[in-house]
Amino acid sequence: MSKAFSFEILASEGNARVGRLITPHGVIETPVFMPVGTQGTVKAMIHRLLEEIGVQVILSNTYHLYLRPGVEVIELAGGLHSFIGWQKPILTDSGGFQVFSLSRRRTKDNRSGVRVLEEGVEFRDHLSGSLHFFTPEKVIDMQEVFGSDFIMPLDECVEYPTTYTYAQASVERTLRWLDRSIKHKKREDQALFGIVQGAFFEDLRRYSAMATVERDLFGYAIGGLSVGEPKEIMYAMVEVVCEYLPWQKPRYLMGVGMPEDLVECVARGIDMFDCVAPTRMARTGTLFTSQGKINITNEIYKKDFSPVDEECNCYTCRNFTKAYLRHLYKADEISAYILGTVHNLSFYHKLMKDIRTAIKEGRFESLRRSWTV
Ligand SMILES: [Zn+2]
Repeated sequence: MSKAFSFEILASEGNARVGRLITPHGVIETPVFMPVGTQGTVKAMIHRLLEEIGVQVILSNTYHLYLRPGVEVIELAGGLHSFIGWQKPILTDSGGFQVFSLSRRRTKDNRSGVRVLEEGVEFRDHLSGSLHFFTPEKVIDMQEVFGSDFIMPLDECVEYPTTYTYAQASVERTLRWLDRSIKHKKREDQALFGIVQGAFFEDLRRYSAMATVERDLFGYAIGGLSVGEPKEIMYAMVEVVCEYLPWQKPRYLMGVGMPEDLVECVARGIDMFDCVAPTRMARTGTLFTSQGKINITNEIYKKDFSPVDEECNCYTCRNFTKAYLRHLYKADEISAYILGTVHNLSFYHKLMKDIRTAIKEGRFESLRRSWTV
């Protein structure tokens, strides 16, 4: 591992921590929320707007970039940072989650579009239906071409619910795939995370966490959650896993991120989050406010000339009213999606900043209580 990467805990309260994560593309203050830029762009955003909001790191999806524009184009461009024109840190996932979720979804005849083999995973893509094969080595190769700062090994995401026997076999396979990924990785300027799986079985989660930690990686991710299970179960799994992760290394909870989840999972020791919720919900008119979620397209906002959130200082709230935003959404104007996304991402950015400040000042538990009442 290159010296360009380090992680330091600056303050803590209970299991909640504030950290400084150093990467070749800049410093990230944790806990951090990473907006999802599936196709190398955060939907309805341009990078300049992300920078104005204060976004520190974005996530991009290997599966989607592999399908479009293709790895070769990104290689010719000199890597992902250069191709998309974003010079701050990038995390790429392994593509595993999309392979399993999108391919399963597209089958019309009730057959799975995915075949899991020891060598890797065979799947039909969601665009053309053509056949592809991902191995742990191929997934590392692609991410080495991308040059993303944080890279993820191929893992298997099992469905919810699943059987114990299947989940157990899957955990073992994910560990074998992790070993192959570690062995295959060549670049020194990227940090590989291990992914803890184990579905919703506490002992499998514990075993997966301990075995993954034995591999001594830069950081650890928790995968396979927020796939339809009740929240209490998700929180319980995060709690079990965090107990077994080393305190001094970064922890990333994959694909989980409603505001209350961020608060609850920071409380359990998570440092990094990603989720499509704030951006996807913005595009359907659901906006987060300090008083809860609102749907801006609602009739009650037709003549409401106040900002979306009195406590928000984002570009949208500083300049526009609910009535105007509602009008833009109703007229299906592109600016509606932009202004809604600016607000939701600003709301998330402020929440994470408030969380960090609260932990530093020893009042995180009181912030947490304000979210649970
Ligand atoms: Zn706002």
